Amino acid sequence: MYDSVMVKCFNCGKSVEFQSKAGKCRLDKFLAREVPMEIAIDLHETIEVCKKCGTKIQLSIPEGMLSTRMFVDAPDDNFNEED
Ligand SMILES: [Zn+2]
Repeated sequence: MYDSVMVKCFNCGKSVEFQSKAGKCRLDKFLAREVPMEIAIDLHETIEVCKKCGTKIQLSIPEGMLSTRMFVDAPDDNFNEED
């Protein structure tokens, strides 16, 4: 099983499917604008070929989103505040 991200070919408009086994793998289909983090990371810089016209389509995560802030799950609410 896998999940999919569906995008439109920029050349002919046909749907192109990117499959990932990184997420919950329940055959869910996501649009490119709303992809769960683990699937987006898995598919970063993945290329698929449009089955209709042969155009190569590459999926990428936007530059500024390749790193994120993470929290320590601490009992003290103030612990995460920066110095
Ligand atoms: Zn196409």
